[in-house]
Amino acid sequence: MKLQIKDHVAVVTGGASGIGLAVARGFAAEGARVAIWDLAKNVTTAAADLASEFDVSTCGIATDICDEAQVLDAAAATARELGPIDHVVHCAAIGSGKFGFPFTNLQPSDWRATLEVNIMGTVHVAHAVAEPMKQRKSGTIVFISSVAGQIGSQTDPPYSASKAAVINFAQCTAKDLAPHGIRVNSVCPGMVQTPLNRGVWQAWNEQQPPDQQRTYEDWAEEKIKAVVPLGQWQTPEDIADMVVFLSSNRAAHVTGQTINVDGGFVMHW
Ligand code: NAD
Repeated sequence: MKLQIKDHVAVVTGGASGIGLAVARGFAAEGARVAIWDLAKNVTTAAADLASEFDVSTCGIATDICDEAQVLDAAAATARELGPIDHVVHCAAIGSGKFGFPFTNLQPSDWRATLEVNIMGTVHVAHAVAEPMKQRKSGTIVFISSVAGQIGSQTDPPYSASKAAVINFAQCTAKDLAPHGIRVNSVCPGMVQTPLNRGVWQAWNEQQPPDQQRTYEDWAEEKIKAVVPLGQWQTPEDIADMVVFLSSNRAAHVTGQTINVDGGFVMHW
C-alpha cells in the first residue's frame, strides 16, 4: 500500500525513545521529513541518526511539552527548518512512578506531574499546531493514549485518568477541526516493552514483599496471558504502523476515533 507521504513534514513528540522513536522511524522510512520534540538528552542524535539511515531531512528540538512557550518555539523552528507541519504524533507522556492500587497509595500531590505532562502537554501541542494547519486546510494529529484510559486501570490512577482525558480531548479537537480538513485520532497501545512500561513494573515490584517480587519478564508474561487475547506484547513498530497509516490519506475518512493496538485487550461493543 502506497502511503504517499514522501516529503511531508511530521512532528513526533517523545520521539527520542520507545513508541515515539518507532513512529519517527516509520515516517522517515516513508520518505517524510521528521522533527522530534523531546526533553531527552539524545533528541538531536536520535534525529541525526534518522537522517543518515533514511536519507531524509530531520531536526531534533529539545522541548519540554509542559512549557507552552517552548512548544510554540518548537513549532516555529520545525516550520523554518523542514517546512509547514503536515502531521503531528503526540507520544510524550509519563507515569507517576508509583503503584496506585488502591488509589489511596498515592497522595493527591502525586498526581500533579502526570497531569501536567500528559494533559497540559497535549493541550500545548494541539494549540501550537492547530492554527497553521487551519490556515492550510489540511493536517493530521494522532494522540497516543492508552488502554489504561478506557478501563479504569488501577495500576496508576493519575496516568489512567490523564489518558482518558487525552481521548476526550482528541474527540473534541476532531469535531472542531473537521470543517478545516484536519483529522484527529487517538491510538491506544496495550503492552509495549519501553522504559515507561518498565517503570510500571518497577513501581509494582517495589510494593511487593520480597517473596512475591518478580522479574519484569515474569510479571509481564503473567499479565499478558491474563489480559491479552492474542497473548503477545505489541512492539513499538506495531503501534507505529497504525499511526503512520492513520496519518496518511489512506485513512482520509477516519477522524475522532480511538483505535486500540492491543492484541484485543479492550473490545468495544
Ligand atoms: P518512553 O518512556 O519510551 O518514551 C516517552 C518519551 O517521552 C521519552 O523520550 C521522554 O523523554 C519523553 N517525554 C517525557 N516527558 C516529556 C516532556 N515533558 N516533554 C517532552 N518529552 C517528554 O515511553 P513509551 O512507552 O514509548 O510511551 C509513548 C506513549 O505510548 C506514551 O503516551 C504512553 O503513555 C503510551 N503508551 C505506552 C504503553 C506501553 O506499554 N509502553 C502502553 C500504552 C500507552
